[in-house]
Amino acid sequence: MTLPDIDISDARAADPDVAIIGGGQAGLAIGYYLRRTGLRFVILDAEEVPGGAWLHGWDSLRLFSPAGYSSLPGWQMPPSGSDGFPTRDEVIDYLTRYEARYDLPVERPARVDAVERAGDRLRLRLADGSARHARAVVSATGTWSAPVIPDYEGRERFDGTQLHSAHYRGPEPFAGKRVLVVGGGNSGAQIHAELDAHARSTWVTLRPPGFLPDDVDGHVLFQRATARVRDDGGGASGTFGDIVMVPPVKAARDRGALETVRPFARFTRDGVVWRDGTSEAIDAVIWCTGFRPALDHLWPLGVVDEAGRVAVEDQRSVDEPRLWLAGYGDWTGAASATLIGSARVARDLVPRIAAALGA
Ligand SMILES: Cc1cc2nc3c(=O)[nH]c(=O)nc-3n(C[C@H](O)[C@H](O)[C@H](O)COP(=O)(O)OP(=O)(O)OC[C@H]3O[C@@H](n4cnc5c(N)ncnc54)[C@H](O)[C@@H]3O)c2cc1C
Repeated sequence: MTLPDIDISDARAADPDVAIIGGGQAGLAIGYYLRRTGLRFVILDAEEVPGGAWLHGWDSLRLFSPAGYSSLPGWQMPPSGSDGFPTRDEVIDYLTRYEARYDLPVERPARVDAVERAGDRLRLRLADGSARHARAVVSATGTWSAPVIPDYEGRERFDGTQLHSAHYRGPEPFAGKRVLVVGGGNSGAQIHAELDAHARSTWVTLRPPGFLPDDVDGHVLFQRATARVRDDGGGASGTFGDIVMVPPVKAARDRGALETVRPFARFTRDGVVWRDGTSEAIDAVIWCTGFRPALDHLWPLGVVDEAGRVAVEDQRSVDEPRLWLAGYGDWTGAASATLIGSARVARDLVPRIAAALGA
């Protein structure tokens, strides 16, 4: 693919020093610290409204981290009105108010299709045909727009419904249906727990999931991830695989509905064949099988490796030093894909950008 030429001769006066791609929590946290540097910056976000990936979470989504462990820099997330674990809508409200409170320069909707080298700047090509130029670019596009579905034999032949958790909104369309929920993390647990009350839901996981004790909330996962990264000097790929017993999951457990089975062997047109050879008719499969970093816009820079990541040193691309990354996973900082982690990443990253730009 080649890109058409763009005349940049008179564009420079309006150009920012730093362009942040993505106005989710990671982009906002960086904006919070950039405000203090005197650098001109802009946050370009593909959504119509604030909230990042939380806009697309299912209606009953609960954070596994309590509000006290889910705050961006400067302003604590208000305590949840429910039972300690904030709801999706409470997070969206917090992010909306956060960006207004700090008057962050977010432009919406502004989808960046490509980032390319343009002399001493990086050029950002937007979906509306316009372009911006910046001395430094922070990619903070998250993972929501890049859902992962594993290969299962015959998946394309299956006539039933297939949905990734990225697009699941609620149990209503599945009422009374036979559903497989695939994936042993918090998404799988929460969605299976909800569906089980409405549908004939079977929870499929590679191995028996790990459940945290009822009296332990998600902040333990952050402490573990941070410790792991500290222990090995920063290269760990910490997981948040343990399931937090948020109230709907606990309720499912108490009614005996948190059993799991190991994966099936293959799909048929109308269902699956289990590993013992028995067939079962299935109406729908919900894939709670995770995401990869959404980095397609970086393709012209040639910095994305086969694993779908960018080689970084202290959040800075090794191959393109004007490019910085935030969010995505532990490879850009401990727990950087979480609310509290994005605060830490921003605190570390902004002084590095400022130093690189001589600010
Ligand atoms: C089910 C679930 C439960 C979770 N629970 C917790 C929890 O309890 N606690 C916690 O701390 N974390 C939790 N997380 C993890 C984490 O908080 C989210 O994944 C978070 O949304 C990541 O923030 P981000 O800013 O990196 O990315 P996002 O929120 O995805 O924001 C990225 C933004 O960039 C935009 N964008 C993408 N591509 C482009 C482009 N090319 N141009 C312009 N804009 C673009 C997107 O539209 C979006 O607005 C959970 C995640 C999931 C999926």
